[in-house]
Order: sequence, then C-alpha cells, then structure tokens
Amino acid sequence: MARPLRADIDLDALRHNYRLARDLAPGSQAVAVLKADAYGHGLVACARALEGQAPAFAVACIEEAEALREGGIAAPVVLLEGIFEAAELERVEALGLWMAVHSEWQLDALMAYRPARPIPVWLKVDSGMHRLGFAPERVETAWRRLVDAPDHACDLHLMSHFATADALDDGYFRRQATLLAELAERLGAPTCLANSPATLARPESHGAWNRPGVMLYGSDPLEHANDASRCLEPVMTLRSAIIAVRELAEGEPVGYGGRWTTPRPSRIGVVACGYGDGYDRHAVDGTPVLVEGRRTAIAGKVSMDMLTVDLTDIPEADIGSEVVLWGRAGNGEVLSVDEVARHCDTISYTLLTGVLPRVPRRYH
Ligand code: PLP
Repeated sequence: MARPLRADIDLDALRHNYRLARDLAPGSQAVAVLKADAYGHGLVACARALEGQAPAFAVACIEEAEALREGGIAAPVVLLEGIFEAAELERVEALGLWMAVHSEWQLDALMAYRPARPIPVWLKVDSGMHRLGFAPERVETAWRRLVDAPDHACDLHLMSHFATADALDDGYFRRQATLLAELAERLGAPTCLANSPATLARPESHGAWNRPGVMLYGSDPLEHANDASRCLEPVMTLRSAIIAVRELAEGEPVGYGGRWTTPRPSRIGVVACGYGDGYDRHAVDGTPVLVEGRRTAIAGKVSMDMLTVDLTDIPEADIGSEVVLWGRAGNGEVLSVDEVARHCDTISYTLLTGVLPRVPRRYH
C-alpha cells in the first residue's frame, strides 16, 4: 500500500461556497481570494474551477498572478498588496493586472510610470486595521491624484480591510465601516471592503466588490455561526488511514514524552499523517478525527510522519481504515477544519495553508 495520506479537493463544494458568497450580496461582485496557493487548495486548479463564475481573482503578489496567467487564467487578477518595488509595474501591465495602492511610494511609482493603457487601481485605506493603507486624512489627496491621472490609473475603488468583522461585538467593525462610508460618499468612490466574515454577516459593508477568501474553502470565520455560514461545505478533506494498531494495558504512555496515558485497556491506531505533512503539532489530546466516519480523538503528541488515535470504542477499525483529519468522511460525516483548529489553538487559515507539498492533492 502506498502512503495513504492525501488532500481531496472538492471543486463542487468550492463552487457552491462561491455561489453562496455571491448570493449573499446580490448588488456586489465577488472577487475570489486565491492567495497562498488558494489557501493551500491549489491556485490554478481552484481558479479554473471558478472560471466563468468568478469575474476576478485576488492574490498577494505578482508571482501568484504570473502562475495564474501561466495556468491559462485570463480573468482580471488583483494584487492585494500591490507592487513590492517600482520595477514590477512593467509586469503588472504586461499581465493585465489590477493593483491595490496602499502607500505613497506606490502612488509615486505609478505616477512616474507611463503605461500604454491605464492600470485599474484599488486605493487602500487604513480604516483601523493599522497594517496597510493610507491614513484617512491622506486618502482624499491620494484619490484626487489618481482621478487626475487617467493615463495612469482607471476603474478606481476604495479598498479597506476589517479587523473584527468576525466578532460578535460589532463596535470596532462599525467604527471602521462608518469611516469608510463617509469617505466613499465624499469621494463618490465605489468600494471593496468585505472579507468572508463581512460577506457572511455584515451586509452593510457590501460594496461594488467583496473579497471572500476562507469561506470559499468551507471554513466558517464567524465567532458565532449564522444561517449563511452553516451552509458552507468543506472543500479540503485531509484523508489518511490506520497503518498499525496497538493493544495496550491501562496506564501505558503513548508517543513522545508519554503525554497521554491509556486510562483503560486501549486500542491505539497509528495514522499516516504528522507535522511533516503540515498537521499541527499543537493538537492536544482529544483533538477530533473521524475513523470510518466515527468521531474519536488524538491520543499522544503528533510526530513528524504519524499521529496516534484512540480506537477503543471503534472495534471495527483496523489497518487500512479511513481516517479523516478534517473534511468529509466516506459516510458523509463532516469534521470541520475550524473545530480541529480550536484544538490546536489556531485558526483554519493556518491549517489549510500549512498542508505541505508532500501531501498529494486529488481533485474531484
Ligand atoms: N482581503 C485582504 C486584503 C486579505 O488580506 C484577506 C485575507 O487575509 C482577504 C481579503 C480574505 O479574507 P478572508 O479569508 O477572511 O475572507
């Protein structure tokens, strides 16, 4: 038997989640965020699956945009962080990209560059994330510079990013949203503001464009799920199998450091998946897994190539039994990557983007 670990990517689920993002905001267009190898799902495969449905894609850097073009993707591609040096503007133009402009130096570089055709620009506002973007009091001047340079920039939008759109307490979100609404109104600017949580739960932030990312992959970013987020379907199933079984007496330690000790006579299954595949080593004892579609839990520290699970209550499980680390089991049972992430004291984003290249992706 070949090493049984793989990541199954359900492209119908991706399309379903994209449709949900679009249908939640009928007055907006949704740019599908595909950065970081489509959150670990495969950049070009996901773009191809959404072609014809998504009118544009978003990535973090020009190399990702180049990979899309090399993969035959002709749709508009937005660089969410714009350029990293002025010399990239030639490639932006040659590849027909749209770009965010978040800093004075980027604006200066664009003004100093003479494209054959103007470049579509999303001017990024720092409305409260305090990461990238123009401070609110500098936005009007930057906007006017762009408006006054139609040979350099076109299709101008205001763009911003929410720090807390996922949280139940909407105080800080409202502060950002109010500031942006005032700016957009004053400048008569179309906007692109909403990430996944805002797409799912903050319709007042929906603009000309929204920018859903993680929800496309079936992860629910909301602190408290809502009716919309409950309709998301998992796209990645990280699937492996039991490769060995141990029968242990009560009181036997399992794995490095003996962190977990059998509380009773136990059957332990060894699963071909470890932190060398990207599975989080911080997974605590009790982190759920599905074995033959039934929930059980990690017992002992995650190793590089293996992890151990408690099979005591699943007597039918044996060598070769299906193990789902997250996603959908063969019997339809779902283990959400969000639930696994909570047991690893992290978020789904790190688990999904963390699946390493040695794990083959298999597309359906
Ligand atoms: N827009 C920007 C600028 C981002 O950095 C991200 C993700 O980090 C997104 C949109 C998508 O966010 P999410 O995955 O939460 O939908």
